[in-house]
Amino acid sequence: MKYADIIVDISLEALDRVFQYIVPETLVSDIQVGSQVLVPFGKGNRVLRGYVIGFSEEPEYEPDKLKEIQSIQKGSMVVESQMIRLADWMSRMYGCTHAQSLKTVLSVRRKVRGGTKKVYCLAVSRAEAESEMKKLAVQPRFASRVALLALLLDDNEGQGISETEMKKKVPSPTAALRTLVKHGWIKVREASDYRIPYSGAKDGKTVHLTLGQQQAVEGICQDGRMVHLLYGVTGSGKTEVYMQLIQRTLASGRQAIVLIPEISLTYQNIARFRQRFGRRVSVMNSRMSDGERYDQYIQAKNGEIDIMIGPRSALFTPFPNLGLLIVDEEQDGAYKSDTTPKYHAVDVAIQRMEMCGGKVVLGSATPSVVTYDRAMRGIYGLHRLEDRVAGGPGMAKTCVIDLREELKQKNYSIFSRRLQKEMEERLERKEQILLFLNRRGYAGFISCRSCGHVIRCPHCDISMTLHKAEQNLLKCHYCGMTLPMPDKCPECGSSYIGAFGMGTQKVAEMLAKRFPQARILRADRDSMRRKNSSIEVFQAFAKGEADILVGTQMIVKGHDFPNVTLVGVLAADLSMFSGDYMAGERTFQLLTQAAGRAGRGEKPGLAVIQTYQPEHYAVTCAAAQDYEAFYRQEILYRRLMHYPPAGHMMAVVVEHMDEMMAREGAILLAGVMADEEIQVLPPADGFRAKEKDYYRKVIYIKSNEINGLIQCRKRAQSLIHSDTLFREMNVQFDINPMNL
Ligand code: ADP
Ligand code: ZN
Ligand code: ZN
Repeated sequence: MKYADIIVDISLEALDRVFQYIVPETLVSDIQVGSQVLVPFGKGNRVLRGYVIGFSEEPEYEPDKLKEIQSIQKGSMVVESQMIRLADWMSRMYGCTHAQSLKTVLSVRRKVRGGTKKVYCLAVSRAEAESEMKKLAVQPRFASRVALLALLLDDNEGQGISETEMKKKVPSPTAALRTLVKHGWIKVREASDYRIPYSGAKDGKTVHLTLGQQQAVEGICQDGRMVHLLYGVTGSGKTEVYMQLIQRTLASGRQAIVLIPEISLTYQNIARFRQRFGRRVSVMNSRMSDGERYDQYIQAKNGEIDIMIGPRSALFTPFPNLGLLIVDEEQDGAYKSDTTPKYHAVDVAIQRMEMCGGKVVLGSATPSVVTYDRAMRGIYGLHRLEDRVAGGPGMAKTCVIDLREELKQKNYSIFSRRLQKEMEERLERKEQILLFLNRRGYAGFISCRSCGHVIRCPHCDISMTLHKAEQNLLKCHYCGMTLPMPDKCPECGSSYIGAFGMGTQKVAEMLAKRFPQARILRADRDSMRRKNSSIEVFQAFAKGEADILVGTQMIVKGHDFPNVTLVGVLAADLSMFSGDYMAGERTFQLLTQAAGRAGRGEKPGLAVIQTYQPEHYAVTCAAAQDYEAFYRQEILYRRLMHYPPAGHMMAVVVEHMDEMMAREGAILLAGVMADEEIQVLPPADGFRAKEKDYYRKVIYIKSNEINGLIQCRKRAQSLIHSDTLFREMNVQFDINPMNL
C-alpha cells in the first residue's frame, strides 16, 4: 500500500499541516510529487483540491481512518505542481523539511503587517477601459467615474494610484471608486515603494548586434545544451544579449526571469529593461514586503507580466511557461542563501529549467571557478564577448606594490609611497579616489611583514587564524588543527610576524591625518546600518561631495563613478588569506572589480594594489586582467585538495549554549557520518566560534559525489531525531558552503 502526503491548500498556515491519504491501486502509476488531486476532507467529506508533496510506504495513523484520494487532475502540470517538485528537490538536496522548502518556493500569502499603502489600478485592458469611459461620459452624473478612469489610463507606469493622490485630482472620488471596484473595472493592490523611472514609451530603438553578440544569441538558441555561460567583461554587451534572448522567448509565448545581485538593481539597469519591454517587466527587491511580493507572484501567474527581474528570490516567480532564466554576475556570493534551505540560486535555476525545459544563461566577467570548469568540460555552452562595445578609455592600468619593500624603505604607513603620490595628484586635479579594504569581517591570519609568508594548515592548505580567546594558538577552521603561535617567521626568521587586521575606521583616521585637506566618506556595513544610508553615501560621492571614498566590498560592486581615476586596494592579503578554499577566487574577483571601478568616464584610470605577496597568482592574474591564467592555477589547487569543483563539500554547523555539549554533539555526528567514500574532518571551531551566547562547532566533509554527502546527512539527521542530546542543539547543514 502506498500513502501520499498532501497539502490541501496553499496558504502559509496550511504548509505545516500535511494530511496522509491512501493512494488507490488505479492511481499508483500516475501519481507523483506535485500532482494535483481531489480529496475528501473533514467530517462532511467536502471535496478539496490538494497537492502531493511526498509518499510513504507506512501509514502514520491507523490505516482504516485514512481516506482515499478521489482522482488526479489530468492535463498539463500546473505551475504549482512544478514548484512543489522543485521544493521536493530542494528538501532532498539541502536537507530541510518540506514545510521549509515549500515556504521558500511557493507564492503563499502571508499575513501582511501594516505599513503598506493601497493603490488602485485598472482591472481590464486599456481598450475596455477606454470604451467604458466613452459610454459613461455621456451622462454628467458619471463625471467622477470618467475622471478616475482617465487618471488610471494616464498611469503609464502601471504602478497604481493611491486614494490620497486621487483626491488631489478628482473631487470626492470615494463613492465612484467603490462602484468601479465593485463592477470590476478597477482593482486594489498593495503599492511598492520601489518606483522605477519609466517614461511610458518604449524606446523603439533597434540595436544592431555586433558579430560577437549575434554569435552568442544564435549559439545559445541553437545549441542543445541547457546551460550556457556568457563570458565577457563589463560593457561587452551581455545585457543586450540577454534582451535579445528574452525577446525570442516572449515571441514563443514563454516567460523569462533575470536574476541580478541586489546591489546592481540600480535604476539605470532596470530602466533599460523597462524601456525595451514596457509594462510586461516587473521588478522585485528584498526591501519589498511579503504582500508586495505576493502581489507580483500573482501577476506573473495570471500572465499580466512576463519578465521578472530581481535578486535570488525572484527565482521562484510562478510563470506558467518559463522559457529562460538568466543569472547575471553568476559568481556573486549573494546567490547563496544564508538561511535554511541554504540553496545556491544557480543550482536551483538549473533544476527549475530542467523541469520546464528552458535555458539557463549564466553571465559574468569573472565566472566562478565551478561554472567555468563546467564550461571547459563542455557541460555548459561557452560564449565569449571579447571587447567592450562602446570604445571609451578602455581598461584601467594596474600596478602592484610590494609592501615588504615599503618596510625595507622604512615606510611604516598603510599607504605606500606610490599610492600617496598618486592620491596627491588626484586631489590636486579634483579627481576622485576609491580606497578599498577587502576585509571579510574577521581578520586574524598570521603573516610575516618581512617576507610575506602566511601560516597555512598542512592538511587543508588554507590559512590558519589566531584566536583571541586562546592566546597564542593558531587554528585551522576546516580540520581544527592547532599550532602554537611562532615568535619568529618560520621562513625568514624575522620577528615581524603577527596577526593582520585593519578596519575602515582606522583607515579613515589615518587618511585624515595624512591628507587634512581631503573630504572623506566611509562606506562599510557598520556605517550603513540604516536602510538607505548606502544609497545616500554613494549618491553624495557621485555628486562630488567628497574626494575619497573608503570602504569594503560594497564600494567596488556595480557602482559607476565617472570621476574616479584612482582605486587603491590597501591590502589584497586580507581576502587572500581569509581561511577558506575560495579565498583565491574571491580575491581575484574583488581585485578585478576594483580595477574596473577606475577610469569609467573619459579620463584613464589606475588601480594600485598593495600586498605582501605580489607573486601570488590571484594578484598577478588580476593585475594582468587574465581570467584564464587565474583559472588554470586555481583549478590545480582545487584538484589537489579535492575542493569544488573537484569534489563536493558540506559544512555541518553545531550550536549550543554550552561549549562541552556543542563539542560532544559534533563528535557524535562526525562519528555517524564517517564512511569509506567520504572524508569527515575532525570538528573545528567555526569562523565565528561564538555567536549570541551560542558556541559553534563545524564539521567539514568532502566527497567526490554529492550523493555521498546527502547519504551522510541522512545518517546525521536520524541521530539528531533519536538522541535526546540534540534537543537543545541547533544543527545546520550547508552543501558547498560559501560565506561561512
Ligand atoms: P554588459 O552587460 O556586458 O556590461 P551592456 O549590454 O550593458 O554590457 O553594453 C554596454 C554598453 O554598450 C551599453 O551602453 C549598451 O547600450 C551598448 N551596446 C551594447 N550592445 C550594443 C550594440 N550592439 N550596438 C550599440 N551599442 C551597444
Ligand atoms: Zn618571513
Ligand atoms: Zn586543516
